[in-house]
Amino acid sequence: MNTGRIIVMGLGKSGLAAIALARAKGFSVVALDEKAPNESTIRQAGDNEVDVNTRFSGSDLPEADFIVISPGIPHSSTMATLAERSGLPIISELDFAATFAERPIAAVTGTNGKTTVTLMTRMILGRSAVTAGNIGHPLSKAVLNKNAKFIVVEASSFQLERAPTFAPSAAAILNIAPDHLDRHLSMKDYTHAKLNIFQNMEERRTMVIHHDLLPAFLERWPGKNAPPPTTFSATNKNASIHLDTNGRLASSEWKLPRLKLPTPNLPGRHNIENLMAAAALAAPLLTPEELAENLSITATEFSPPAHRLQTILVWNNISFVDDSKATNPAALKAALDQFDTPVNLVAGGVGKNLDFSSCVTKADKIKKAFLYGDARHDIAACWKRSINTETFDSFRNAVIAAADNSAPGETVLLSPACASMDLFRNYQERGLAFGRIAEEWKSCGIGFEKTPRRV
Ligand code: ADP
Repeated sequence: MNTGRIIVMGLGKSGLAAIALARAKGFSVVALDEKAPNESTIRQAGDNEVDVNTRFSGSDLPEADFIVISPGIPHSSTMATLAERSGLPIISELDFAATFAERPIAAVTGTNGKTTVTLMTRMILGRSAVTAGNIGHPLSKAVLNKNAKFIVVEASSFQLERAPTFAPSAAAILNIAPDHLDRHLSMKDYTHAKLNIFQNMEERRTMVIHHDLLPAFLERWPGKNAPPPTTFSATNKNASIHLDTNGRLASSEWKLPRLKLPTPNLPGRHNIENLMAAAALAAPLLTPEELAENLSITATEFSPPAHRLQTILVWNNISFVDDSKATNPAALKAALDQFDTPVNLVAGGVGKNLDFSSCVTKADKIKKAFLYGDARHDIAACWKRSINTETFDSFRNAVIAAADNSAPGETVLLSPACASMDLFRNYQERGLAFGRIAEEWKSCGIGFEKTPRRV
C-alpha cells in the first residue's frame, strides 16, 4: 500500500490503533470524531503530526487519499455520509490493518458464536496465536506484534462491509440468522456482508461454512467445476466435517482425531459445530499431528467464555444459567436446544425489530417465560399462543419470579434474545446483575416474595 494522507474516522480503540499503525507505516493522518473524546484519547491519538479534529460537524472532509472507518460509526452519521459523498475509497480498520499482516490470519464471522470460535481456534493453533478484531483487540495492534505466529480475527459484518482487499489464509462463516437489521438494510445485505469474508480468497478448502449455508455460497460463487468449500454440521453427514453414527468427529477432508462429542465442557449442538469450525480453520495452518493433538486438548479443556450458557449457581438442585450474550432469537434457540428439563426463561431488553416467532419451535422446553424490558410486550404478544408468559416492570422482579417458579431439577435461564442497552450498559453488566439477584434469592432461602428482604 502506498503511503499518503488518510482520514481515520472514530477515536475509539480501533481508530486509535489504526492511527498508530498508519503512523508507524509512514502515513500522514487526519483523525475525525463527532464526539468530544477525553484528553487522554486525544493524547493517544497524536504525535504532533496527527491532525485531531473532534466534535466534527463540518460540511467538507479534509483532503486525503482514502478513509479508514471504525466499526462503531453509524452509516447515518454526518462523517459517514460525507465519506460516502466524497467518492474517496472507504475501508474498515480491519481491512487497513490486514494489509500489513505478515502472519497468516484465520478469520471468523457469523451471527452467533464468533467470540467462542475465535478463542477455540486460538487454542488449537497454540500459544503463539493471538486474537484480534471484534473480540476487543484491534487488528491494527496485533499486526505490530512480532511474536504472533498466527492471528485469529473475529470479524463483524460491519467490518466486512468495507473490506475490499481482506484476504485471510482461512475464514469461517458459522451461521447467518436475523440480527442487526436495524443497521443492515435487509437480510440479503447482511448475508452479502458476511460472504464478503471469502471474496479475496482463492483456495476453496480454506473457506469454511456451515453446511446449511452452502446454497447461499453457491449462489454467489457458482464455480461449477470448482471444488466445494469446507462445510461442517453436527446433523448432516454430507458435510465435510460431521459426526459419524457413533457421535464421533469425522471428516472427508482433514485428518481429525475421532473425538466423542459433545464433551462435558462444551454443552449443546452449537458448541460441537463451533469446535468443527475452529478445527477447519486451524487445519490448513498446522501439521496433521499438531492438529490432532491440539484439537483433542481443546475439546476437553476449552470452556465457553463468561455469559455464554454459563452455570453460575446451583442451589437446591435449581440451576441458574447466564446466557446474557444471547442477544438475538437464534442464540436463544441454541440455548434452549440443550435443555432436557423445564426452563424458567428470563428474556427481554431492546428488541432490535427482530422476529421472536422462530423460538416458538422450542416452546416445549419452556415452563414459563418471564419477560422484562422494552421488548417484553412484543415478545409476549408473539408467544401468547404457545408459551406461558408474564411481563415484569423490572429485570429484578422477572428473575425473582423465575426462581420462585422453579422446582428442583429445573433451570432459571437468562437468555434474553435482545440487546441490553435499555437497562444495562452491556451484556456483561446484565449477566452480573442476574448472578447477584440469584445469590440474593439463594440467601433468602425461599424466594423474596416470602421474606422481608425484598426491595
Ligand atoms: P458472538 O461473538 O457472535 O456474539 P458468542 O460466542 O459471544 O458469539 O456467543 C453469543 C451467543 O450465541 C451466546 O448466547 C452463545 O451461547 C450463542 N452461540 C454460540 N455459538 C453459537 C452457534 N454456533 N449457534 C447459535 N448460537 C451460538
